[in-house]
Amino acid sequence: LESCLFCQIIDRQVRGKIVYEDDRVVAFEDVNPQAPVHVLVVPRKHLSSLKEARAEDAALLGHLLLVAAQLAREHKLDASGYRTVINTGADGGQTVFHLHVHVVGGRIFHWPPG
Ligand code: AMP
Ligand code: ZN
Repeated sequence: LESCLFCQIIDRQVRGKIVYEDDRVVAFEDVNPQAPVHVLVVPRKHLSSLKEARAEDAALLGHLLLVAAQLAREHKLDASGYRTVINTGADGGQTVFHLHVHVVGGRIFHWPPG
């Protein structure tokens, strides 16, 4: 989508610090990190949020989570633990409307979230 920031990062029209990519997903560092590690994993396919995902996207969603786990492992977060977050819609706190999984770690997170 031409108007979508994350599509523009995927297409290299906007600079992003890309840390991983394959045929289905791209991962890059969050520009405003909320923890020592803060990476966003996004599908190349533009889905504006989790609400848009359908049964045909099941394998893609699974891959998104496996890549998130792999990136956490590479950042040495397995022993300490980490958090994966998908914000959806207004009440969920979503601000960029291209589906993304946040991988945050390197500090302690609390529950319930803010
Ligand atoms: P969300 O609030 O879940 O929609 O998360 C959007 C995230 O995108 C926020 O954590 C922002 O800091 C991050 N973000 C916004 N613009 C950029 C950008 N140009 N490059 C990397 N991350 C960004
Ligand atoms: Zn997009």
